[in-house]
Amino acid sequence: GLQCGIVGLPNVGKSTLFNAISSGKAEAANYPFCTIEPNVGVVTVPDERLDTLEGLVKPQRVVPTIIEFVDIAGLVKGASQGAGLGNKFLANIREVDAIVHVIRCFEDENIVHVEGRVDPVFDKEIIDAELQLKDLESVDKKIQRIDKAARVGDAKAKVELEILKLYKAALEQGKSARTVQVSPEEQFAAIGDLSLLTVKPVIYVANVDEGSLPNGNQYSEKLKEAVKDEGAEVIVISAGIESQIAEMEEPEERELFLSEYGLDESGLSKLIKASYRLLGLITYFTAGEKEVRAWTIHRGWKAPQAAGVIHSDFERKFIRAQVIKLPDYVQYKNEAGVREAGKLSVEGKEYVVQDGDIMEFLHGA
Ligand code: GDP
Repeated sequence: GLQCGIVGLPNVGKSTLFNAISSGKAEAANYPFCTIEPNVGVVTVPDERLDTLEGLVKPQRVVPTIIEFVDIAGLVKGASQGAGLGNKFLANIREVDAIVHVIRCFEDENIVHVEGRVDPVFDKEIIDAELQLKDLESVDKKIQRIDKAARVGDAKAKVELEILKLYKAALEQGKSARTVQVSPEEQFAAIGDLSLLTVKPVIYVANVDEGSLPNGNQYSEKLKEAVKDEGAEVIVISAGIESQIAEMEEPEERELFLSEYGLDESGLSKLIKASYRLLGLITYFTAGEKEVRAWTIHRGWKAPQAAGVIHSDFERKFIRAQVIKLPDYVQYKNEAGVREAGKLSVEGKEYVVQDGDIMEFLHGA
């Protein structure tokens, strides 16, 4: 499954947030929540469209899509040199698809700040520096490896070397690999085999005190200012509030609680949606009496590839797909109505699946 790794300095609120994620009772009545390993929490991706479809189709069950969050504890200054959990921690980050970087934006004199003061931008730079140092090591190793080939005239090595030098320069300047502007092909050729840490997409979570909801405070503003050129999202969350919300079973109770803080949705829900966007993911639906279900694919996938997430046979033996747009389903109430209205389309192998499509695949035996 898709994994987001939660990182940050000690005592910034990672565990509090992770516990809120993995203990959430929010949709427990309908949706399965579970914890696979102590540090992995599975959450469902909130999606109003699924609720709409459920209301229309009244299926036996509804299956949302999921995202996994991994609590990657143990990053301290010096981790790239093996301090704290050092390399184990870094290996964990290599495996995730995206990084959720939690940053302390609350004051509390009872909770020790590892660096002695609340300074979100400096904190972010400590973590970034550790990851960048590790990446610099990987890039340097590869440069050494191909340098000789490039010097004796290997054209491919030469090109890769030039690109690697761009990465090296950026990392040495305290910039992350994700800021290097090269084409996807160049990136793949030069660093595709390195699984760099700082090339992964990132979301910043500004963990504020409850009094700073919904819009944040001077600390979260500083953080936003500092990352504005990265094109990364900053989500203002109060981890403490999230853990209280996670305990509430009744939707009405949650809504009332959220509105008291001026929020229209929980921080967790915002985080999940942002992660989904960040990873370039979209959802299509299948709708039958037995099951209404959301499926995750990458933006740009064609119908056979999309069918493949249901079953590999569906991809290999793909014949065609029947597509209904959700607004049409809502207007005409069911598949028969949509068909009668001439709004059901039949698509072939080249059809690019759109976010929110309701799909039915026809495949060979
Ligand atoms: P971690 O080391 O990053 O996992 O941090 P924890 O989640 O264990 O939090 C460290 C301490 O900060 C705990 O005592 C939390 O209760 C507290 N904490 C977390 N978030 C907040 C917050 O938003 N406000 C305040 N005042 N305390 C918080």
